[in-house]
Amino acid sequence: MSSPYAAKPWLKAYPPQVPPQLVYEDRALYDLLVRAAQRHGDATATVFYGARLTYRQLHEQARRVASGLIRLGVRKGDRVAVMLPNCPQAVIAYYGALMAGAVVVMVNPLYMPRELRHQVDDSGARVMIAIDLAYPKVNQLNLEHVVYTGMQDYMPAPVRWIAPLKLKPPRIAYRKGVLPWASLVGAEPIAEPVPVNPADDLALLQYTGATSGLPKGCMLTHRNLVANVLQTEAWLYRARRGPALVTLAALPFFHVYGMTTLMNFTIHVGGTMVLQPKFEAREAVKLIQKYRPSIFPGAPTMYVALNNLPDVQKYRLDSIEACISGAAPLPVEVQAEFERLTGGRLVEGYGLTEASPVTHANPIWDRRKEGSIGLPWPDTECRIVDPETGEDVPVGEVGELLVRGPQVMKGYWNLPEATAETLRDGWLHTGDMARMDEEGYFYIVDRKKDLIIAGGFNIYPREVEEVLYLHRGVKEAAVVGVPDPYRGETVKAFIVPREGVTLDPEEIKQFCRQHLAAYKIPRIIEFRDELPKSLVGKVLRRVLLEEEQSRKGVV
Ligand code: AMP
Repeated sequence: MSSPYAAKPWLKAYPPQVPPQLVYEDRALYDLLVRAAQRHGDATATVFYGARLTYRQLHEQARRVASGLIRLGVRKGDRVAVMLPNCPQAVIAYYGALMAGAVVVMVNPLYMPRELRHQVDDSGARVMIAIDLAYPKVNQLNLEHVVYTGMQDYMPAPVRWIAPLKLKPPRIAYRKGVLPWASLVGAEPIAEPVPVNPADDLALLQYTGATSGLPKGCMLTHRNLVANVLQTEAWLYRARRGPALVTLAALPFFHVYGMTTLMNFTIHVGGTMVLQPKFEAREAVKLIQKYRPSIFPGAPTMYVALNNLPDVQKYRLDSIEACISGAAPLPVEVQAEFERLTGGRLVEGYGLTEASPVTHANPIWDRRKEGSIGLPWPDTECRIVDPETGEDVPVGEVGELLVRGPQVMKGYWNLPEATAETLRDGWLHTGDMARMDEEGYFYIVDRKKDLIIAGGFNIYPREVEEVLYLHRGVKEAAVVGVPDPYRGETVKAFIVPREGVTLDPEEIKQFCRQHLAAYKIPRIIEFRDELPKSLVGKVLRRVLLEEEQSRKGVV
């Protein structure tokens, strides 16, 4: 093959401690917990508001949940929805459902009924384990059994009594099909988990596409998810193992990024997860000071919030050793400031739900590059192709990023056409435009779908946004293409000015002219107080576009 990517130039840049190929014994995902309980039974698995659960307890409760689910009629391959923030029950429910042979569907507790209905109906889940706070929404869904649990249930005594005053859980009318958590954890523990075929059986149906339309269910097998955990472990070669490893679990487990790099990774090495149900910077620094985690994977918005705490210097954050930031681009200043505050390393990585999710990251203790998502992870092949012709583009040129590896999904649930379009010969078409440099470091340029074509010219919104961010009065910016009768599309910028600053659209355009070709200059500028964002801090350009369309409909 003449492809420059077949030579895997990134391997030369690999830290010597990271093997480019790993050994994957085929095993079920729930085996991670089974083994941790055998090896580190008395070690702390989770800390939640100060209350600790050991691996033995976690394992036993998961086995109880497994038999409780089987008693409700759950059979191998059935989908079980889990709608919980980071709390011990999220880990127990997830592993319990896996041990029952079920396919877990992780659901964001903040979803609104319309979004929930889509995930429940599309996945065909008949059973859900949900947070009590979501009762009014979940109650509207078409489910046979819903098991409710409250965050207070696993808090230590004094907090448990006060928490409901703050959380205000709704009164739940328990009846047939509406059950308390005790009905699951009160069951006899399952003797042996239901056997699975790791290469073929699904462990997870994970919905994605919140930034780009109706969510699709990614079918992730046991092998996919275990592989990504082993790849994470290989990349974090210097991280401690066993009870000496403490992680700050602030990223939600219902997103596959937190699930793999935090929950499953920590369990795999037998470490302790400090659970934070909802990220809040002040609480996070207190937890870091108290529990001394060394690993804290996150999204850029989390590190920004932490850096910007006015009295952050007051806290001892020097336990932090390694953080991988993913989900969105990590600004260099944010990285530098966070490293100054903690003395640890913060590197940018990249992934997508379809790949369990991580495919790239910068080396943590070795050479990293600014603005780059780093190197492909072990066993992860990559190519960059012209999206029109499908041919590999020369090194340094922009094209669509393709990845292939053990972490790549089996396909989309019930969507053979979308699967055939996205997965060809095992190559996952990421929909992200990227380039690779001579040394094998990759750079994301933009989403393929977000490309604006104005008068025949290609414009990547991110390039325009980066220029807008250079303007001192701009706090946040998002750029989209809006229909234009002459050019097909034209560039529109949404800008959030910095506090106390009044911006003039003409001055912004003038500023852009100094940095961009004329066809890339935003023709329309709208000022906003804030931009719509996803839970992990991605600006939702889709929402801005929808607003544009509905506005057009009204006029
Ligand atoms: P999700 O499946 O929700 O995790 O979203 C995956 C998408 O997030 C990718 O296809 C990228 O568009 C985006 N993404 C993830 N990491 C990065 C990164 N480091 N820089 C830019 N975009 C990213």
